[in-house]
Amino acid sequence: MSIAQHLYLAVDRARESNCEAFQIFPGNPRGWKTGPFAPAEVVEFKERRLAAGIGPVVIHLPYLVNLAATTPRVVEASIVSLKDAVAKAVVLDAEFLVMHPGSHGGDGTDAGIERIANGLREVLKEDFGHSMLLLENTAGAGNTLGSTMTEIGSIIDEAGGDGRLGLCFDTCHAFAAGYDLAAEEGLDRTLSEIDERIGLDRLKVIHANDCKGELGSHLDRHQHIGEGHIGLEGFERLVNHPSLRDRTGIIETPKKAPDDDLKNLEKLRDQKRG
Ligand SMILES: [Zn+2]
Repeated sequence: MSIAQHLYLAVDRARESNCEAFQIFPGNPRGWKTGPFAPAEVVEFKERRLAAGIGPVVIHLPYLVNLAATTPRVVEASIVSLKDAVAKAVVLDAEFLVMHPGSHGGDGTDAGIERIANGLREVLKEDFGHSMLLLENTAGAGNTLGSTMTEIGSIIDEAGGDGRLGLCFDTCHAFAAGYDLAAEEGLDRTLSEIDERIGLDRLKVIHANDCKGELGSHLDRHQHIGEGHIGLEGFERLVNHPSLRDRTGIIETPKKAPDDDLKNLEKLRDQKRG
């Protein structure tokens, strides 16, 4: 949900789209800087959220954040950005922060994971309030880290296994990375892997996106629910699975027409039984 004009308008926009939870970028998703929130905006945000009964709230980190970067300057800026986002989550009572693990500059997975873990240890010195920092699985293009549950599990382990770290499971990214969520057996295998490598209890948020790219294509192209390669049947199994059905879901599907979000949410809700 956009925070354009006023932070608190994100709540109104979420309500208009029939949301039970929503995600915001605290500033320009493609910039470093996110300005401070004016205290009056924060008060209004919290009041409107309470009145609307909407939650959890998810804060997505800017895309530039890369704790795995080979350039120390980029790592430093990423840590500053993360600490700023954590402070904002505390102020807003946002339950979750979501970040992409990052991209190693070509010196390999192990070195990249070590840098992310070191960066996370630094960020974890902050007061998180009630919020958790979730690592999002990725489609795995180029030097991107976090396309396997094993890598995300290693990052969390090397960062000390802190209870404030978790997983944001993006269905499009997982499918593009080779996890066949269109098949029942594929979904079961994916969830077993999450449980083995990370622990299903750490899976807190699902980014429910259909996928335009083929299985294992590593193409990060989101599609409307039911119109991609995961398909309606795939989402029916996802939203009803005992390990997933009570989790917070966020859609990041294409948003061209004003009612696109409404339609995608309705399609997901139509799949849900009981
Ligand atoms: Zn996502």
